Amino acid sequence: MKSFFSFGFPFLLRIIIPGSFASLAIAPVYECVFPYRLGSNFEFYIFFSIAVGLFCIFIGEHILRFYEGYWFWPEFLRKFCISRLQKKITHLQTVYDQTNDQIKRQVINGKLLRFPIKEIPTERVPRYQAEMPTLLGNILRAYEAYPNSRYGIKSIFFWPMFWLLLDKDARKEIEEQWVFAECLTYISFLSLILAVFYFLLYWFDQIGLISKVLFIIDPTAFKVMNLTRISAKKFIYVTMFGSLIANARITYLISLRHHLRNGAYFQAVFALKKNEVKETLLMKESDSEYWNEMWLYLRYKLIKCQKCKSFFPASYFKDDICNDCHTDNNDLKKS
Ligand SMILES: [Zn+2]
Repeated sequence: MKSFFSFGFPFLLRIIIPGSFASLAIAPVYECVFPYRLGSNFEFYIFFSIAVGLFCIFIGEHILRFYEGYWFWPEFLRKFCISRLQKKITHLQTVYDQTNDQIKRQVINGKLLRFPIKEIPTERVPRYQAEMPTLLGNILRAYEAYPNSRYGIKSIFFWPMFWLLLDKDARKEIEEQWVFAECLTYISFLSLILAVFYFLLYWFDQIGLISKVLFIIDPTAFKVMNLTRISAKKFIYVTMFGSLIANARITYLISLRHHLRNGAYFQAVFALKKNEVKETLLMKESDSEYWNEMWLYLRYKLIKCQKCKSFFPASYFKDDICNDCHTDNNDLKKS
């Protein structure tokens, strides 16, 4: 659950960490293969880092939704991955039931708790189900479903109200937790994108596309570029591709821990603040009428007639006489 946008330290971290990572990952190709210099190297990397960091923030929601399994997922792949995870759950549960090893059971329990609980009250043991095609998707699903499953609170809708009732320190604490999960997810995503980039470079180089294009637009650059030996370029592309894929996986797996911790905080907010929010939101039946009348008065300067209940414009003078029943409402108040 995303907390609100703020421009504090966490905001900077969100730009700097993913941005610097992308600069580092792009460096081999910029230093060794790319035939042009865009300003000084320092300027280039600073600019590139900030641009990538901002890009991540702008599409952050989508990155998360991609990893959750909503965005960019073809239906067949989603179904395949969900059933794969479901099989994993069934396997874990069988192992859990068969073993008496307490430590093993604890480990399995930890793994199972990453999935939403099936809402079937008759079953004695909690049973889990994969609702999303990725672990991250299931973790977020599990904790977003928690307030509804335990208290009947629809978390997505009520979260802003809970968030606004938190004090500044609590918000800061949650925000700082969140940044780590977010940064790691962004870095994982950037690794994927850059891996694709290196793959494409390798491929284009292989079919001679890059040399051809460069030769046409700039023969001198072409010569410079050819100074980098083909084998060296290949080595760069392949190593970078491999390590970026590995990094995407590793940072994703580490991010899961942080997302789980965010989830615990998210659940805690609902557990601790539910009464406060309830009290604040408490409305009497007549309240909606009150707000409606207040709105008509403040917005249109209309008054409700005490006698016939129709609305008439409040007058500039003291006598507020109803258009319909001609009662002077000021007289009614006096009596
Ligand atoms: Zn009236």
